[in-house]
Amino acid sequence: MPKVFFIDVTNRDGAQTARIGLAKLQKTMINMYLGEMGVYQSEFGFPFSKHEQNYVRANLELKEKGVMGSIILQGWCRAVISDVAESLPTGVKDLNLSISTSDQMIINKFKGKLDRKTVIQQMLDSVKFARDGGIKTIGVNAEDASRTDMNYLLEFGQAAKEAGADRLRYCDTLGYDTPWGIYQRIKTLAQEVKLPLELHCHNDLGMAVANSIAGAKGAIDGGVDAYINVTVNGIGERAGNADLLSCVLALKFGRGMQEYEIADRLNLRVATKIAGYAAAAFGVPIPITQPGVGANAFAHESGIHADGALKDHHNYELFDFELIGRDQETRIPGGRVITTGEYGGVAGLKHVYEKLGVSFPSDSACQRILELVQYANMHTQLPLTDDELRLIANHPEQVKKILTTTP
Ligand SMILES: [Zn+2]
Repeated sequence: MPKVFFIDVTNRDGAQTARIGLAKLQKTMINMYLGEMGVYQSEFGFPFSKHEQNYVRANLELKEKGVMGSIILQGWCRAVISDVAESLPTGVKDLNLSISTSDQMIINKFKGKLDRKTVIQQMLDSVKFARDGGIKTIGVNAEDASRTDMNYLLEFGQAAKEAGADRLRYCDTLGYDTPWGIYQRIKTLAQEVKLPLELHCHNDLGMAVANSIAGAKGAIDGGVDAYINVTVNGIGERAGNADLLSCVLALKFGRGMQEYEIADRLNLRVATKIAGYAAAAFGVPIPITQPGVGANAFAHESGIHADGALKDHHNYELFDFELIGRDQETRIPGGRVITTGEYGGVAGLKHVYEKLGVSFPSDSACQRILELVQYANMHTQLPLTDDELRLIANHPEQVKKILTTTP
């Protein structure tokens, strides 16, 4: 039976969101945490984009060094030969190529530059170019797939498959789909095209998670693997994307979903850590009602609920908070605190690292790390976390690259 995989797009869809963003070091930490969590793939950025290229290279190196688990780092670009050509020198080996397929966008975005026929041709040309350039996995994204004429979408998917694409991404770009609508369309695509399908759902009508789960069910019932696109805390364009943890919880605990197997060996105990990290990095607090990680997700006050939860927590909780690592939450220590950062010196740095169990072989090594710590803090403008400090000490060459952008 086909399975469900997760592709996190926080570092692409999340990072490109209006009004918020991530520093390259923060994107790196998110890749690290996703790797630790066992997520199949991170759509880690835009390899054709000049300011992203050192980050892309350094993260591929970190992956090569074995510090990101088995996660695949895949880049996003338009299904345009020039985008692929500019991505290839970074060494990226997995790419998703995106092009709009709805008449709305073909007519009103391409404005006569492309039509249905040439959209397919351009997709085919870029797939071939990527394959010839040594790209291992190629995903083809149908942007606005949910508003695309079904017969044309089938034709597009068939052409992508014949060109050797590995997956087809069904983008509900505007969050227009409904659970039963997407189920039917995805099942049809699965049965007709027989290519693994990605569900990329937005939350404009509040249905991103429901649509992702229904779509995944459609793919599997239709006989192909499902790759659900998610972001940490659901951060993404406009009303956001499908939330990573919510989708996992829905598959694990939702009625009738247990027969659908998650292929990724997920360590959900990382969930609380990654949610907190992303919230701080984006500067977007986690809503108290957020599934799993919200402040109120396990809080009970009203008489009947508190009484019931105290007698047996399963009276009012579907799953245990330990499962998602809420018991590991770190509290800010009281009393005297020494920190290090942009304006820090050697003594403070040594003290902070000692507490992390890290010592330096020489004064010059210490000086080198201090300089990186100063730049890293300047770069993120947030107190450096213990894991960021560990990354800096353990992989200074890659961190230097991540912190380097030359306009
Ligand atoms: Zn999107």
